[in-house]
Amino acid sequence: MAIMQFAPTALKNMFKKPVTTSYPAEPAVYPERSRGHIEISVDDCISCGMCVRVCPCGALEVDRNKGTWTIDRFNCIVCGYCAEKCPKKCLSVVPGYQEPGGEKVAATYTKSPEVLAAEEAKRKEAAEKAAAAMAAKKAAEAAKAAEAAKAAEAASAAEAPKTE
Ligand code: SF4
Ligand code: SF4
Repeated sequence: MAIMQFAPTALKNMFKKPVTTSYPAEPAVYPERSRGHIEISVDDCISCGMCVRVCPCGALEVDRNKGTWTIDRFNCIVCGYCAEKCPKKCLSVVPGYQEPGGEKVAATYTKSPEVLAAEEAKRKEAAEKAAAAMAAKKAAEAAKAAEAAKAAEAASAAEAPKTE
């Protein structure tokens, strides 16, 4: 008798599409808001280090001089906090998981040569401006000191007793 109870369901399922997919033959379709992994648009990164400071797992590293951003995906829990706090919004949580690997390696992303060259030029310009400002400040201080010395000399000459 029990078989009669299941028969309608069995018959219905025979004509329905399977709910499973034949992964990996067919690519997996991830839900739009799934927390797969973190991606970076590295050329937009300003190497401020905010993501490194807020990451609860210590999974990130930023090297301002080399223009690199590194993530240890084995330590990342995809909390999305770094993406939330990035001032340039160049980090994002995207669907899709990373491929498994035999070794625990971190992934490093490097800025393009054009961006690195532009940043280097900016740094150089800023250093030159700072040096010029420092030189101007020193020159102004020296001029002020010379003026003060001159005034003191004039005052002492005026105060000196006259001999007849
Ligand atoms: S998603 Fe979370 S754990 Fe992963 S790198 Fe960003 S802040 Fe760190
Ligand atoms: S917070 Fe954003 S801009 Fe700052 S270092 Fe991280 S990825 Fe780059």
